[in-house]
Amino acid sequence: MKSPREQPLILVVDGDAGQRWLTSAALRGAGFILLEAEDGEQALALAQSEQPDLVLLDVLVPGLGGFAVCKTLRRQHGGRDLPIIMVATMDDLASIERAYEAGATDFITKPVLWLALRHRIRHILRVSQTLRGLRESEERFRALARASDSAILVLDRQRRVLAVNPAAEKLYSFRRGERVGLDFMELLPPIDDWNGPSESPGCESTIQALDGNERALLYSDWMHATATQDIEIESLLREALAHQELTLHYQPQVDLDSGRIVGVEALPRWRNPLLGNVTPAEFIPLAEETGLIVPIGEWMLRTACTQARIWREIGLPSLRMAVNVSPRQFTDTELTQVIARILRETGLRPDYLELEITESLLAKDSVADTLRALKRLGVRLAIDDFGAGYSSLGHLRRLPIDRIKIAKSFVQDISGEDDDQAMAAAIIAMARSLRLGAIAEGVETEAQLAFLRALNCDEIQGSLFSQPHPAERAATLIRNYSKFPDLGLLWTNRAPSRPEERI
Ligand code: C2E
Ligand code: MG
Ligand code: MG
Repeated sequence: MKSPREQPLILVVDGDAGQRWLTSAALRGAGFILLEAEDGEQALALAQSEQPDLVLLDVLVPGLGGFAVCKTLRRQHGGRDLPIIMVATMDDLASIERAYEAGATDFITKPVLWLALRHRIRHILRVSQTLRGLRESEERFRALARASDSAILVLDRQRRVLAVNPAAEKLYSFRRGERVGLDFMELLPPIDDWNGPSESPGCESTIQALDGNERALLYSDWMHATATQDIEIESLLREALAHQELTLHYQPQVDLDSGRIVGVEALPRWRNPLLGNVTPAEFIPLAEETGLIVPIGEWMLRTACTQARIWREIGLPSLRMAVNVSPRQFTDTELTQVIARILRETGLRPDYLELEITESLLAKDSVADTLRALKRLGVRLAIDDFGAGYSSLGHLRRLPIDRIKIAKSFVQDISGEDDDQAMAAAIIAMARSLRLGAIAEGVETEAQLAFLRALNCDEIQGSLFSQPHPAERAATLIRNYSKFPDLGLLWTNRAPSRPEERI
């Protein structure tokens, strides 16, 4: 940027020597350095050689005339930002229009009010200095962005793309200017196209959001975030609900006897313009830590119950809706009242709602009363990720639990070591002896399925049957599947029914 002079240099251009002298004397006293030109040609030459900070230009200057001088000054090197004030007599109104057309910054009339002119000049100099600074800083930013290997997108508050650099054009495969004005969310991969965060193109990008404060991040490596980044992600998570960035996906739970989908687990997905797709495994711990799990958990309960009610109304077969509930929802809220209110508001039958709670919760005495109250309400209770070692048999007997979900770590080890097979078998046997249902989650292979079926496990959930899907796709899956139950039977290969059922 052209550095500001301590005493700004003003070029006074006027054919009248008396007027030049008056103007110079009035301004020199106010701390400016004065330079004088008596005609247009001299003015242009001095502007080139001396680079004044401002030009006071009489409309009637001899030679080229004021308007032509103004136009030429603008075209000269450095003239784009040069403040030019044109001067004419009071009755020469026609000149005002022409002066601005010729590129004048401002216009004053004679006789000149010297005190006002001094203040006006100082103000114009400040504005021009600021504009020049802005333009130069923008040029620097552009040069950096052009040279950067990182994809950079500039977004407005509505997340529309304002500008992109060549690396972003390459990453998102579009030509210059092609996507300007587009909603940034449309650049992300389709929402049901992902089951993890690392595939998102957004994850490799540096994105600037111009929102007043520019920001730049059932973060190519931001999982290893520093404390500062955690705070940033936390503030994004706070806004996630308000910005409708959270959605629920639904993963089917399949009965092994009938091959039918008998339930779904609601699993949240967070899609943020800065972070891309974020899975619960990444944001739930943060939500737990900060207490944000309370509003997020309530939103999930309400959304899942509403969805279950809608599915029922459009004629889908009866389904259990399983929702994960965090320990903090037990300790920080009146959970029973919250759930009673949600069931009332959504009109869902309580026994269609299943709450998945963690094993560690069972050890807390204060929770037993809440669990009993929930059971009185009619909802079902399942222990998630069972087998990690926290639950005692005593807890399971004493508390009104309906079923256990065998942790996917056990299921995934089934195909390997004998010990792990014994573990899964023991959990299922224990569930049976306590008259609890058993569902295995994270079932990925035929071998795991065969083993679970042989142990008479009731239900399975996992990618072998289906990933979690958005509501519409899950509904299609459920509808089609119930229309062709034979397919289900084929798929499950109709395991032998349990001994007690054979009788
Ligand atoms: P979870 O409750 O045990 O949920 C099952 C997880 O297994 C889900 O991960 C699901 O997408 C994943 N999964 C499904 N099928 C397969 C499979 O075949 N193989 C493997 N390896 N994984 C499979 P997701 O959605 O990432 O959720 C992770 C965990 O985050 C959940 O585990 C749960 O502990 C927690 N979580 C999710 N939603 C909530 C919630 O609403 N509230 C609370 N407090 N915790 C939640
Ligand atoms: Mg769960
Ligand atoms: Mg689980």
